[in-house]
Amino acid sequence: MRILILGGTAQARELATGLRSRDEYRIIFSLAGRTHEPALPDLPREQLRVGGFGGVEGLSGYLRAESIDVLIDATHPFARVMSAHAVDAARTAGVRLLALRRPAWTAQPGDRWTHVPDVQTAAEHVAALADDRCVFVTTGRMELAAYAGDERHAYLIRAVTAPDGPLPPRHTVVLDRGPYSIEAESDLMARHDVGALVTKNSGGSATAAKLTAARRRGIPVTMVDPPAPAPGVETAATMADVLRLLELGSETSRR
Ligand code: NAP
Repeated sequence: MRILILGGTAQARELATGLRSRDEYRIIFSLAGRTHEPALPDLPREQLRVGGFGGVEGLSGYLRAESIDVLIDATHPFARVMSAHAVDAARTAGVRLLALRRPAWTAQPGDRWTHVPDVQTAAEHVAALADDRCVFVTTGRMELAAYAGDERHAYLIRAVTAPDGPLPPRHTVVLDRGPYSIEAESDLMARHDVGALVTKNSGGSATAAKLTAARRRGIPVTMVDPPAPAPGVETAATMADVLRLLELGSETSRR
């Protein structure tokens, strides 16, 4: 079975490495190529590809040319464009589509979360906060321009790759890549006198250390909710679920 995995998360890497050891699956792993020195799964070079496909048409052409049997969308839950393209291209090429989607984080007792639908609304929310302390932004480097008009707050911006667009006048950029410990997150928040945290609800089996640190420090969180998943797509939450769906699919096609 030839499988194309659309990656961009640690969970996608784990899936690719896990499926590699099974003789019945031949994996190709794809990345957008946005990150310098991206973390890659343990696969031979010829099973890795980097860069966009060229829209729905490009992806459906690739699925056909590479005789892909199953497309697995294991992109980040906020990669809306790629996920929408995966739905359309799989339909056009007549290829089965699975989505790997980890469950969203849910608030625990003591959390002070404000839910917002997108980064723009998150930026408007924190700019209006009465608390003048630093805003810790962990929503990625792509939409930072949304915060650029806030002259009142200092910002601590954490990203994997250096941002290149407009930023708020008072900012500190920290380039780093997780996983992070609760202690390290708490220390970082204390050092920068953080009074608010902004994060996307990216989900995952373990609760993010930044959320636990924020709860313990009484820091309010502006939580950007993930877009709704496309209707009708077979969805798995874990690698075990993906394996079950793949095995179910091959049993059905053998009958
Ligand atoms: P996006 O807006 O959904 O996609 C933009 C374009 O990037 C797509 O149209 C596609 O180009 C290309 N692309 C995206 N993922 C790809 C993949 N796995 N393989 C090949 N091409 C891909 O995506 P984004 O939000 O910019 O994110 C880019 C990548 O970073 C994604 O793979 C995502 O999983 C990862 N990521 C995103 C976030 C986030 O918050 N958005 C956070 C962490 C990681 P073509 O149309 O030319 O095919």
